Order: sequence, then C-alpha cells, then structure tokens
Amino acid sequence: MPGRHFLHVPGPTNIPDRILSAMHVPMEDHRSPRFPQLTLPLLQDLKKLFRTADGQTFIFPSSGTGAWEAVLTNTLATGDKVLSPRFGQFSHLWIDLARRHGLDVIVQEEEWGTGASPEKIQAALEADKAHAIKAVMVVHNETATGVTSDIAAIRQAIDAADHPALLFVDGVSSIASIDFRMDDWQVDAIITGSQKGLMLPAGLGIAGVSQKALYASKTARANDALRRCYFDFDGMISANKDGYFPYTPPLPLLYGLRTALDMLFEEGLDNVIARHHRLAEGVRQAVAAWGLDLCAKAPNWHSDTVSAVMVPQGFNAADVIRQAYTRYNLALGAGLSQVAGKLFRIGHLGDLNELMCLGAIAGTEMAMRDIGIDVVPGSGTAAASEYYRQDQSTAFRTA
Ligand code: PLP
Repeated sequence: MPGRHFLHVPGPTNIPDRILSAMHVPMEDHRSPRFPQLTLPLLQDLKKLFRTADGQTFIFPSSGTGAWEAVLTNTLATGDKVLSPRFGQFSHLWIDLARRHGLDVIVQEEEWGTGASPEKIQAALEADKAHAIKAVMVVHNETATGVTSDIAAIRQAIDAADHPALLFVDGVSSIASIDFRMDDWQVDAIITGSQKGLMLPAGLGIAGVSQKALYASKTARANDALRRCYFDFDGMISANKDGYFPYTPPLPLLYGLRTALDMLFEEGLDNVIARHHRLAEGVRQAVAAWGLDLCAKAPNWHSDTVSAVMVPQGFNAADVIRQAYTRYNLALGAGLSQVAGKLFRIGHLGDLNELMCLGAIAGTEMAMRDIGIDVVPGSGTAAASEYYRQDQSTAFRTA
C-alpha cells in the first residue's frame, strides 16, 4: 500500500529513522578493546532510565520474557512462594512461567480491567507471619487490558506489612513511557523489552536488579536454587564489568539502544512521560466521544501506553481490526484470551505525536463504521483534536 503504515499495536512500536540508521552497522569484533566504549555507558545509562543509583543493569539477547525468566531463576529457589495478582494475559503468562520453574505462586485474582490491589497484597503479607513469601510479582502496565497499577502504593503496602518480600515489576509496556522509579519505590527487579517505549526491534531483554535481589541470588544458590545458565547473573556481571558479554551480543540492537537512550534523554524523561499522557488522553477523549467503554474500569487504572476499547454487544472486535488493517493500513492490537473478540487495542507509545494518533483514531472510526458500529462520523477525531489543540500544558514543539 502507498504511504506509511500506521503501526498502533502496543508493541512493537515505530522505529525512528535515526535509530534505524544507527543500527545499520557493519559487524565488528565484540571482544575488541574498543567495544566497552559502547557497552559500559549503555549499562550505566539504563540506570537513568530505571531511575536507580546502585541497581545492577542487565542486557540479555532475548525478548522481555527472557528478562522475566532471568530475574526469577537468579533470585529464587525451587518451591519458594511468590505472590502475584492476575488481571490480564501478561500477568497470567508471568505466573505461568513462575509455576513452570517450580515456584509456588499464590495468585490474587482481580477483575480484568482493574489491577493490583495494594490492600490485598498487604493483607496477604501480614498473614504470612513466617515470611514464606519471597517475592511479590506485579505487571506495572497490563498491555492486554490497558491497565496501569500503582507500584508506589504496592511498595507502601509491603512496608506497612513489615514484610521482607522482594518486589519484582514487569515494565515491558511502561518503561520509557510511564513514570517508573526503581529507587524511590524500592523495586528489587524491573524488566523490560526493547520493542516498546525504547522504539527498537524486539531482541533485548533488559533488567534492573537491586542489591537486595542480587544478595538473594547468592543465598538462593545455597538453597536448591533454580537452574540458570544462559541467564545467569554471575556470568553476565563478570563479563559486563569490563564491557563484554558471556556470549555474542546483538551489535545492531546495542547501537540502536545507544541512540534510543540518547533520544529519550534529549527529549527528557519527564517530557517523554508527559507526552505519553497527553497522547493517551486524546485517545481516551475519542473513545468517550464514540460512546464506547474502555476495558479499564476507572480512571485510576487508565494506561498511558495502550487503550483497550470494548466493542458493543453483537460485534466482533476482530472485524474492526481486520477492516482497519486491510482497508486503511492501520494495525490495531487484538483482544487476548478471555477478552478476544470483545475489545481492540490502540497502542499509543513510542515514537508518536498528536497527528499520528489522530490518524489512528480516524482509521479506527472509519473501520468501526464500515462494519456497522454506529459511531458518529468524525466524533472521535473531533474530540481528540480539540483536546490536543486546547491543552497546551505539555505541548511539544519542534522549536
Ligand atoms: N509483559 C508485558 C506487559 C507485555 O506487554 C509483554 C509483551 O507484549 C510481555 C511481558 C512479553 O514480552 P516479550 O514479548 O518481549 O517477551
């Protein structure tokens, strides 16, 4: 199709031309004396991204799922209890991965469209007098439902229960888009992937790990530790110390990561976060103007990176997605698992601006009308464009 494809799934996201060019590199020796000049600053700058002073950062050649596996297998032992709320497909998958590794997961079921409950987490930890629960695992932004949980409140809940459990956070669809503060919230492990807020192809599983969790990785070893090899922290830490990797790293992705971090820091992390909020709010205004509901049940759950839009009874969201893709060259995200067919997702993260979001809103509106959903023509686009035009609070400009 002529013209640009409108990529509005919640990852992978658009790759800016500057990053594409940066990845267009000849191969080089990853054991050369020069190589650490690339890698050491990368590992350091990831700390800025996670907002941590003394956390240890890791870059694994994997997707985000590999970083999940790395954190669990390095810090826990067979049969350890972990506590995890489940409120969407990605929290479900993380729980599944933990169980397959032999962990004993206590699942707190939450309605899809809501998120982690600090009150319930506090109650479960208070009831655990023997401190058998070793970690709390929370998905910061549930990409399947467009729900963001309050990690600061979960930290307070753990502290209020006076419980030593580690706090592990999945930031795959929040890092570099939604506010995240590893040190302030005393997060013990944060993981992300390269293909969302970092505007890269999939292929890097990135983690930030606290000194407390690194200590757990030592003690878990003595105590029937989970098996780890490719994702072993020790091997990575000792090679990374001098800027090398224990195996062959994906060079183009590392060069791309360099440019992605440069771009994020040039814009300013706070501005990046404000831009995502502003773009998301415009999309939410459009959804309201269409008279449709978000899957997120209340504003406190609203995600600034993805909006999951419920289609009216009698319609299949897959038809909207197919029409948008085939007729308007617009990729929307599908409903997963128990919300399949019930919702479509508009991703609004990464390298985006207001007019790009308006294009997605217009295409979605047209696709919905094509399949017979009775939204007023132009209603969503008008609501979003007026919001973008009038709200100058965090306007981003080229000059
Ligand atoms: N966690 C969340 C919140 C996600 O959105 C995704 C992927 O979309 C994952 C984990 C899995 O990440 P990956 O596909 O990079 O392995």
